[in-house]
Amino acid sequence: MEFLPIFARLTNKPVLVVGGGDVAYRKVQSLLQANAAVTVVAPRICEELVAMAPDKLTLLYEEFHAALVKGKRLVIAATEKEEVNQSVFKAAEQANVLVNVVDDPQRCQFVFPSIVDRSPMIIAISTGGSAPVLGRIYKEKLEQWIPRYTGAMAQLAGSFRSQVKQTLNDFKQRRHFWESALRSKLSVVLASGDMAAAHKEMQHQLDNWQGGGGKGHVHLVGGGPGDPDLLTIKALQIMQRSDVIVYDHLISPEVLALCRKDAEFISVGKKAGNHSVAQMRIHKILIEQAKMGKQICRLKGGDPFIFGRGGEEAQALVEENIDFSVVPGITAASACAASAAIPLTHRDHAQSVQFITGHCKINSASSVAGEQPDWASLAQSKQTLVVYMGIIRSADVKSNLIEHGRSPNTPVAIIENGSRPEQRVVTGILSELDDLVAREQIGSPALIIIGDVVKVHAEIVKKFVAQLY
Ligand code: SAH
Repeated sequence: MEFLPIFARLTNKPVLVVGGGDVAYRKVQSLLQANAAVTVVAPRICEELVAMAPDKLTLLYEEFHAALVKGKRLVIAATEKEEVNQSVFKAAEQANVLVNVVDDPQRCQFVFPSIVDRSPMIIAISTGGSAPVLGRIYKEKLEQWIPRYTGAMAQLAGSFRSQVKQTLNDFKQRRHFWESALRSKLSVVLASGDMAAAHKEMQHQLDNWQGGGGKGHVHLVGGGPGDPDLLTIKALQIMQRSDVIVYDHLISPEVLALCRKDAEFISVGKKAGNHSVAQMRIHKILIEQAKMGKQICRLKGGDPFIFGRGGEEAQALVEENIDFSVVPGITAASACAASAAIPLTHRDHAQSVQFITGHCKINSASSVAGEQPDWASLAQSKQTLVVYMGIIRSADVKSNLIEHGRSPNTPVAIIENGSRPEQRVVTGILSELDDLVAREQIGSPALIIIGDVVKVHAEIVKKFVAQLY
């Protein structure tokens, strides 16, 4: 981070602007918005600046000299003369005063950001002088996105702060109150512009606050395949407001980075091996945390209800009388199909699609009859088979399908790290599935897609642009 964003109080603080033209005028306007005591120095000063003096600013009709910098909070050089700007920079540096030479990023010890002003809420955007237009583009987006009444909302909250502090002496309770109030219908009242009604509504909410957060809640949230842009808005909202984030090894660092920074993070990454013990541990963590009255975001790769054991976690919670909710996520099959250009169904090639896991006890010694997949049904043509966790068992999958009648020439694709920057797509035919896995040294996570739809991939891939992050 080249610049530390801070918000400085400049009310009545001395600021020097060197230069009397248009550029200086624009900077003076921003400074006056912050109520700074501005002095403009230049041999000639434009009319707009003259019109503001002497009420709002002091004008000095003279050349710049180093002594003017003394005692100033900030100095801005906004002249067209390189040598003047340079001497302003030098003088400010020597006096240890923050200086900004307009349009000269190397000589800016502070920058003027683009501002989204919903005072008292202010959002400042800076590109550190490298792309001011980009900063303005994002300012525009935020301007559209953040409602006008946000300022009034912040103001209202500010006016209730001490009352809320007196009424609710527990920090956690206060946080829950604010979370609830600021997300409530208060916004509708504020949007109508009726401040008195908004004040009344806030008072009503505080007077009738039943306490929140006392009751734990587990949100089983789908974190998608890894690309943070593939999260749902709901997932993001819960990630942002939960007390605890319990996450799997499938959750990418980019997705994790979007969670609330001061939440408690618990990694429950399970690798192959002692799964059931690991799963019991997860249940225990969720139950313990919920019983402490916390909001828990159980963040799972893909969709929590597709090979995510979300169902078992829900059952464990219900057994302990704990409330839960579910936020779906983009499952690996959808994500990999999209990012590798393989339609999962196609009128000519596949009328249905089945998601199966290669991890269940396919053909293993411990398998019992009920756990065997119905290979005859899986081997039928005109359908697509998506195998999750199938890499280790790819030889079993292949031989069972062929044995039950699927053509050895059926096209297959393996998608490793689907939707992620390091995504790899390997294609071949069913009879060589396990060879492909070995030859290409397929790593985790990877998904196998089996069926004639993979032919379509070959046709369409030449004009396909994968949107990886
Ligand atoms: N609930 C998850 C699946 C968990 S099982 C979902 O809905 O996607 C884990 C398996 O999912 C992995 O072994 C792999 O087969 C698949 N998988 C998950 N993310 C993947 C990704 N980004 N690329 C390829 N396969 C992925």
